[in-house]
Amino acid sequence: MAEWLIPCNMKIYDVYNAFNELKAIDWKQSSSIKCGDIVYIYVGKPISAIMYKCYVNKTDKPKVEIDDSKYVIDGTTYTNYGRYMELEVLEKYGETLLTYKNIFENGETQVRGPHIISDELAKYIDNVTEKTANAQDEQFFIQIVNSDFSGNKKRFAFKGIARKKQEPLLIKGCKIYRRDRKVAINALSHADYKCEVDLNHEVFIRKNSDKGYTEPHHLIPLAFSDKFNVSLDVEENIVSLCSNCHNRIHYGAEVKDILAKLYFERKSHLEKVGIVITLEELLEMYK
Ligand SMILES: [Zn+2]
Ligand SMILES: [Zn+2]
Repeated sequence: MAEWLIPCNMKIYDVYNAFNELKAIDWKQSSSIKCGDIVYIYVGKPISAIMYKCYVNKTDKPKVEIDDSKYVIDGTTYTNYGRYMELEVLEKYGETLLTYKNIFENGETQVRGPHIISDELAKYIDNVTEKTANAQDEQFFIQIVNSDFSGNKKRFAFKGIARKKQEPLLIKGCKIYRRDRKVAINALSHADYKCEVDLNHEVFIRKNSDKGYTEPHHLIPLAFSDKFNVSLDVEENIVSLCSNCHNRIHYGAEVKDILAKLYFERKSHLEKVGIVITLEELLEMYK
């Protein structure tokens, strides 16, 4: 498995909104990229940073199947390349993490065309992103920051339908379970964009929306998907938390009380979707 860096020119293609709205993109394929490779997308000026880690799902597609034409800003350089690969986003990084300066100080030598990154850069990226790997939500909720909330006028109601478990992606021997952005947004809507630890917790209003800013958190972490026969990525398992409570649940001491509160509120809903767990088992997962 090779790790690649591919630059993207924001003046030509709006990768930012494309990856906000699409789970995967058909991208012009460089000759030696293989299925299962990792592709980091370097977003050019004015951002100048690696912002996306993608998994190569498919290769050698003769034509574009995922319609992303609305993100093409300047199509004059586009032709039919006849060879496309499907890139699925695994992780999104903030603009200040893998900056031009940081990557050039850690093994990168050029960001012009697609190329395999150096071992030094691969290690550096692993190191700086590892901190957040345990809490994959931290990367995930970046994705929904700019999502369109206008479709969610009515408060979402739990459906009580178990979802089929998806096969995880295997990345460096780690199982990565995909999250559905829509499911997370539904869960926030279900909570009416309030913090479910305490409905009185102050939340600010989202940019470009009249909704309160809360973050989705999987009560039973997806990393424990192996223990269940159904998907954990369901609305019933996602709570809406204010930024403070979200950080607290991941990094704070003494989170037993808030976990217990959330657990008892969700227990019956979780059982309806085939997720059965005791409080003790849940607390164990957060140790
Ligand atoms: Zn979380
Ligand atoms: Zn809160």
